[in-house]
Parts: sequence; structure tokens; C-alpha cells
Amino acid sequence: MVTDDPRADGRRTITYVFPIYNEAGNIDLLHRTVTEVTNALTDRYDVTFIYVDDGSKDDSLAHLHAVADADPRVTVIELARNFGHQMAVTAGLDAADADAVIIMDSDMQDPPRVSLELVEKWEQGYEVVYAQRRSRQDSPFKKFTASAFYWFLRKVASIDIPPNTGDFRLVDRKVVDELRRFRERDRFLRGLVSSIGFRQTGVLFDRDERHAGVTGYPLSKMLRFAADGILGFSVAPLRLISRMGYLISFLSFLGILYVAGVKLFAPETAVPGWAFITVGMFFLGGIQISMLGVLGSYIGRTYAQSQGRPLYTVNSVRTGLRGPARTRL
Ligand code: UDP
Ligand code: MG
Repeated sequence: MVTDDPRADGRRTITYVFPIYNEAGNIDLLHRTVTEVTNALTDRYDVTFIYVDDGSKDDSLAHLHAVADADPRVTVIELARNFGHQMAVTAGLDAADADAVIIMDSDMQDPPRVSLELVEKWEQGYEVVYAQRRSRQDSPFKKFTASAFYWFLRKVASIDIPPNTGDFRLVDRKVVDELRRFRERDRFLRGLVSSIGFRQTGVLFDRDERHAGVTGYPLSKMLRFAADGILGFSVAPLRLISRMGYLISFLSFLGILYVAGVKLFAPETAVPGWAFITVGMFFLGGIQISMLGVLGSYIGRTYAQSQGRPLYTVNSVRTGLRGPARTRL
């Protein structure tokens, strides 16, 4: 792989990003484990760690500062309140300045040793290496809702999100640079990473149980997150309106035929005025819902535009001898 690291010693850097929300019981063990594991990398790479405290209510922050006091490679970012997992990871990515960034949960559910396998794949030239769960130690409810959600998302979304992946992954500097250009508020990072492109691959792993503490993703947050995934990458719910409109218009057409039939062939059974009112009702109902669908299509486009996403992402640029010395890409 070509290196364009401007630093004199030419050593490349890997940064770990850890979002932290009420993880006081995990931080010390996590940092110890990650330090041990990454000893296998430090002969080749400079390894650093960014811990993002996402407005924890326990004494996570004190633990983080203790870790940073003992290890100069550690950066601690304290968000001013709880912004949620995806924002915490975003803050870490924004702060990172490394050739590769590894995103991991901080509750030991993502085993630190797996990150070495991610690095191996990166060394083979992949720009995104996601860790894919072979098995997971979660409640049956969580497993069921997660698989239903990913099934649905793959059906309706305009991107191909690999199944059984979370945010545990390695992303190359190029991908981090592209990710920085996505500033939408309702973030579904794994979707953004998929949509960015580049060479992506997966590594299988067994997801462990949370070591200490409780999940920071109660059902309400999970539902919101699921909505971010679906609404952020699909206008299927809006398209549903048009489909319903067409269906209802078709049914009203049948209704109109029936009403007209009654009026023509069995006028004695019809109440005066009934045909007119019923036809009008069916007709208008069909038109109204179809028109809502038309509005929906425009709203969908306005929404996509307002997300302000980059129009394309670039892997590399090669200019000819007479090309611009520096491109603005
Ligand atoms: N997290 C966060 N902000 C939140 C919720 C969670 O930064 O508002 C972090 C949390 O500390 C952990 C990761 O996001 O490192 C995943 O959260 P959690 O383990 O609670 O989710 P679960 O594994 O239960 O889906
Ligand atoms: Mg967890």
C-alpha cells in the first residue's frame, strides 16, 4: 500500500475511538486490554486512543482522566451533554488524525483482540473492515428486533448494509475524510460508511456479553436509531402513500362501476342521490391519496437535498503532467 504520511519517521498511525456513556465499571479493564492487545502493533504503528465521554452520569470521566494521566497516548473528549452514541463516535472521528481509525464499543462487547484482524485486512488494502457477528450474547428480544430491523432495512434502503454488523470497524483515513463531509444530524454511521464506497470487507467474530453496567440503548433509543437508519436511507414510507393512493383509486373505480351498475340495472333499489354521493366520495378519496403521494415524492427529494450529503466520494485523483498541480478535491 502506498503511504503518503508526511511525517519524517514514516510510521503510520492507528487511532482507537471509544464512545463512553456510563462505563465507569469498564474503562480500566478496557484500556488495560486494549493496551495489551495493541502491543502487537506498536513496533509498526503509532497507536493512540480517543475516549469520548458522552455526558456520562457516573464517574466515567474521572476514570478516563486517570487513564489519560497514566498514558500519554490517550485523548479524552468530554461532550457537554449526552448526544447519543452516533454523535460521540462522530466527535471521535472528527478529532482523529490517523491513517486508520478503529471504532469500538467500550463495554467489552467488541473484543479488543479482533481489532488486530481488522488491521490485517487493512494492510491487505481494504479501506473499510467491519467486524461481523458470528454469534452474539444478547437477550432474545434484542436479537429478534435487531434481525427484523436489518432484514427490513436491506429490503427498503438504497444502500447495501452488511448484515450482523454494528459500528465496530476499521476505517482508513480516506474514508474518515469523506465521513467528515457528511454533516446530517440524524446519523446512521454504518449506513453512511456503506454508502461511501471504497474497498470494504468483513471479519467474523463472536460478540461477548457486556462486562459491567447496563445498556445505554433502551428500547426508546433503539427505535429512534432504527428510524434514523430507515428514514435516512430510504423514502419507502413516502412511496407507500403513492402505492396506497393507486390501490384506493383502483378500488374506487370498481366501486364506481358497481354504483353505476346499480343505477342503470336496478334503479329501484337505489336511494335518490346515492349514486352521485358515493361516486363522488370514492373518486375524491382516490384523488386525495394519490395527490398526497405526489407531495410525498417532492418531500422525499427535498429531504434528500436538505441532508446536504456530498454528491460523490473520491478514492484517488491522478492528474497529468499538464494537469493542475493541486486539485481542490
Ligand atoms: N453510548 C454512548 N452514548 C449513549 C449510549 C451509548 O456513547 O447515549 C456508548 C456506550 O458507552 C457503548 C456504546 O455506545 O460504548 C454502545 O452502547 P451499549 O453497549 O449501551 O449498546 P448495546 O451494546 O446494548 O446495543
Ligand atoms: Mg453494548
